[in-house]
Amino acid sequence: MDKRELEQTLVLIKPDALKNSLTGYVLSALSEFHTGLHYCGTKIVHVSRMIAEEHYAEHRGKIFFPAILEYLMGHSHYINEPWKQRVIAIAYQGRDAIRKIRDIVGPTNPLEARTEKPGCIRSLGTMVPLKDAEGNIIGQRMDNLIHASATPEDAEREMKLWFKPNDIPPLMHAYPTEQSREFYYFKKHILYRKHEPGCVCILAPADVAWKSDLETLRKISKGTPASGSLESVVAKYLINEKQAENW
Ligand code: ADP
Ligand code: MG
Repeated sequence: MDKRELEQTLVLIKPDALKNSLTGYVLSALSEFHTGLHYCGTKIVHVSRMIAEEHYAEHRGKIFFPAILEYLMGHSHYINEPWKQRVIAIAYQGRDAIRKIRDIVGPTNPLEARTEKPGCIRSLGTMVPLKDAEGNIIGQRMDNLIHASATPEDAEREMKLWFKPNDIPPLMHAYPTEQSREFYYFKKHILYRKHEPGCVCILAPADVAWKSDLETLRKISKGTPASGSLESVVAKYLINEKQAENW
């Protein structure tokens, strides 16, 4: 098979789209009929701070960083309803998947989306003023309904962050996988090779993981520099774990 047919991209239906009941609309706009792409993974995720921070790692330090974490975690749209705080993560696959989905999604800023590409998904988004403790407007949050990977590098990082290999049918895998030969445990931002009281088991022997994740874990456990952070690997193993915020 031509490798280009395996191209994958991550879509997140964000909490504002869920709240405004736009899920069906988004799924229709991104349907196989419109895009020629195929579903390869989907899950409903209660977004932990760790996965939100990893997902938006490139924006760490920017003025709007705290606001987009709160937004993705559902804190902005379901303030007193934590059980409704979730996103729908969907992986699409096929030739030109990244560009095709970004085209239908449209520009980041909903106001630009409305002028530059009326009819795109984000043209239905909203701009929300951000205020400091005194009520002064310090910026705007872009509630743009949906996330879509922007580049092949982003897509690979995001796919591996939100999905484990076993979340995707094996014949649809786009990235190399490997079976773990070791146990890996995690607690309070530290990786352990042996069980510690209160830790969580990330991987056990014979579990299938992304090859790059195992390489990162091996390097971190040896104390050598790794290309990815420990949290970028661990976050997905804590998806929908009840105590994700305590680990
Ligand atoms: P995209 O989602 O189109 O890839 P970015 O990666 O630049 O856009 O930004 C991530 C998210 O952060 C956006 O979808 C939007 O919700 C928010 N955002 C981006 N830029 C700003 C900004 N200047 N002010 C407020 N929010 C922003
Ligand atoms: Mg982006």
